[in-house]
Parts: sequence; structure tokens; C-alpha cells
Amino acid sequence: MEKKKYPPQMYPKYYEPSNDAPCVCGSGRKFKNCCAKKYCSEALRQSSSFYNSGLYEKALKHTRYHLTWYILCVKAHTTNPLAAAFFKTSEMLKVDIEALSEILEQIHHCYYKTGRSKEFPQVISHLSSIIDDPRWELKIIYSQALWYLVDKDDDASAYQKIASVDIDTCTDHNILALYIHVVPQPVQFSRIINIIDRLICHTDSPAEKLQYTVLKGIKYFELSLQSEAEEIMTMAISDYRKLPEEKHSEYGDLQFASALGLYGDLRSDNTALKESLLITERLIEASINKNHSSVHLGDLLRTKGNALQSLKRTKDSIAAYEASLRVNPSEIIKVFLARSMLQENNIIAAKNTLTTVDIQQMDNGELLDLGLSWAFLAVLTRRKDDVQQAINALKRPTLHSPVWIKQRDKWLIDLLEIKPESDGGIISRLLSSLSKYAILTPNIFGVGINVNRIIDDAISAQGERPHLGK
Ligand SMILES: [Zn+2]
Repeated sequence: MEKKKYPPQMYPKYYEPSNDAPCVCGSGRKFKNCCAKKYCSEALRQSSSFYNSGLYEKALKHTRYHLTWYILCVKAHTTNPLAAAFFKTSEMLKVDIEALSEILEQIHHCYYKTGRSKEFPQVISHLSSIIDDPRWELKIIYSQALWYLVDKDDDASAYQKIASVDIDTCTDHNILALYIHVVPQPVQFSRIINIIDRLICHTDSPAEKLQYTVLKGIKYFELSLQSEAEEIMTMAISDYRKLPEEKHSEYGDLQFASALGLYGDLRSDNTALKESLLITERLIEASINKNHSSVHLGDLLRTKGNALQSLKRTKDSIAAYEASLRVNPSEIIKVFLARSMLQENNIIAAKNTLTTVDIQQMDNGELLDLGLSWAFLAVLTRRKDDVQQAINALKRPTLHSPVWIKQRDKWLIDLLEIKPESDGGIISRLLSSLSKYAILTPNIFGVGINVNRIIDDAISAQGERPHLGK
């Protein structure tokens, strides 16, 4: 870049605070002891590579250097009133708000990983005043709500924050996705559908469009509106298929593979399941070549395991789940692994696996999955103690949707009727109903996301940054 062309007041350096003033990045330290002389554009890339190597303190420092650089640039753009007026009405401000909110997200991950999550709210409130624009205000609210949800595990406070936004007119898809996740249930069906429709409409990402459309289909399916559900999913899949190559992303393709898997499960359509498997295998190969994070690879292997399990290639699915556990240990994978072991009729191995699951680390959706796996096991063994285990496990998750509460009651009643000599009727009824709902459980809570994973997934050098809803 030919620097000479710009007047000096366009340079970030011109807007540095004095050495003893608090630093621009919100760390609370003096500028001279924090970002002075170190801030620069390239720091973001360095922070990603430190983060991916597990060097979180270094990652945090470099994210701050980048943040300070960006804020000083914004100041350089806006300090002159005339320039500021132009800036506010231009596309540039929108771009800057998006970029800053991504840096904010990255800094959040760093604070979380360094165990200094307590300090993050002070950073957010420091940053809230750097841009005077309603869109930036929304990003700040989103960040605060996410902190309550992820760092404090406090859904109620997260909801209070989000509810300060007028949800009925909101078009910010991060806010809407988070709202669906934290809103106290039950919520009217038409209201949820309305919010999902706005999510679909206001996201530019084909991957998210696909994901939200599938979610809409699932909501219809939960109400037993099967043909509407299938029609919605068929559309979502065919829209994604029509995308030109340059609009594909690895994340989008993974969503596509998952959608095909779900569709294949719902319709017992092996062609869709095989396509899901093929895409996942291709993504796994690419992921290994590109040295992606173990969380990402773990997710891919799990999707592969699911497709193989549905295709009844049980041994291969067990191998995929075991590989997933090796790269990224996770309680829910054990639940899926146990289900494949049950398919193999290896009841002892399944039971051992389910017994080692740490329920403290699971959210409601995962707990329901665990309950379903215990129920499968109890139906196969028909032993009194297994039935009791299944009942206890099914009672554990807090369910909100009337559809699921009713369904769980039915299972509990049926399970109580199981005797060692039972066969036919009740057994096959239970198996088929458990199977139908087991397909849906990974998708029924929130937007199909696991909040605990947002943090782990977060930063990849390729700039594929998951936000909520991924
Ligand atoms: Zn600083």
C-alpha cells in the first residue's frame, strides 16, 4: 500500500492514547504496558495459530493487539465529523461492525480458555461505547448473553439480556438463534416458526439457511406433521444441492451431510444415507490433510458413525465412533457407540460403555439420548434392573415441549410393563417408537447446537468461524 497518499490523520497511530491512559483493548492495563508498539493487523493470524496450539495466554495477547489496531483504525475513520457522517451511512461501518464482533468473539474464547472468563464483561462494557450504532449495540447484547450462557451456565440471565431486544422486529440472526436457545418453554408453535423463518431470511450463509430450514422441518415433525416436515427438508436439501461450487464451505457441506442423514433416517432412504456417508468421508480426508482442530475431526467422525449406523454397517460405525473418541473425547459419542454395540447384540460392551458416561457433562438433549440408549438396552435384556436404569435415565432431562413430555410418559408406562418373558406387541412397539425419536434427539434442543462446544469449535486459522447455530 502506498502510504504517502493518505493524510496523517488517517493513520491509527494518530489516535493512540497517552502512555499512562487505560489501554484501548479494555484489558484495564496502562497503554504502555499493554498494546503500545505491538498493535497491528497481522496479530489476528498469529493469535489463531497460538490458539490452535493451545497457547491461550499468547493468543489472548495477540487478539488484543489486533483489537487495538482495529479500534484505532475506526477512530481514524470517524474522528473527522465530515468523514464520520459519510462513514456512518456507508457499507464500511457494517463491515467494521462485523469484523469487530468477530474479534470480540475471538477474545471471548481466549478469556474462557485462559480461565479468566470473569474479566470478559469488563472488556465488553469498555467496547460498547466505541461505535454509536444500533447494530453494534446488538452485538454487545449478544456477547453479554453468550457470556451468561456459556461461561456462567445461566440461561435465565442470558434470556433476560436477549429479551431486552425487540425480538418481533429483530433481524439479527445471531440474536434470533440465541433467543430460540434460551427462551423459556413452551413457546407457541407459530411464534417459533416465525422466528425460524426470519433466521432463514436474514442469513447470507447457505450453510445456516440449510440448518435453519432443517430445524423448521424438525419442528413440524415433532407435531407429527410428517408430510410437511419431509417437504421442507426436501426443499432445503435440493436448494443446497443447486449451489455453485464457490458457495460451498466445509461447514456447509457437513450440515448438508447431516441433513441428508436425517432425511435418510426419516424416510428410510438408503440413497440419501449413502450420499451423506460419501460427503462425510471426503470431508474427513480434507480435514486430516489440512490439520484441522480435533473437535472438527471428532464431529466429522461422529457424523460418519451416524450414517454407518443407519445403514446397518454396525462394525464400521463402531470404528468411526471409537476414532472420534480418540481425537476428541466426548460423552455423547459414548452414547452413540453403545447404540451400535446394541445393534451388534453386544449387550455387555454397551452396558459398560453407558455406565462410564459422565452425566455432569451433558446437556438436556444429550441426557435424553442417554435415556433412549438405556431404554433400548432394557428392551433387549428385559431385566428388571436394566428397566429401572432406563426409567431413571429417561426421567433425568428437563423436557419442555408437550410433544416430548407426552412421549416420555408413554415410554415410562411401557417400560414398566416389560417382563422377562415379554415379546411381540409391547417390545416391537417400544423399539419402533424409540427408534423414531432417537433420530430426532440430536436436533430437538435449541437450534441443534451444543453450547458447550461453541467455545471449543471456535477458532480455526481458515477463518471458518462458527457462531451460534453451528
Ligand atoms: Zn491492550
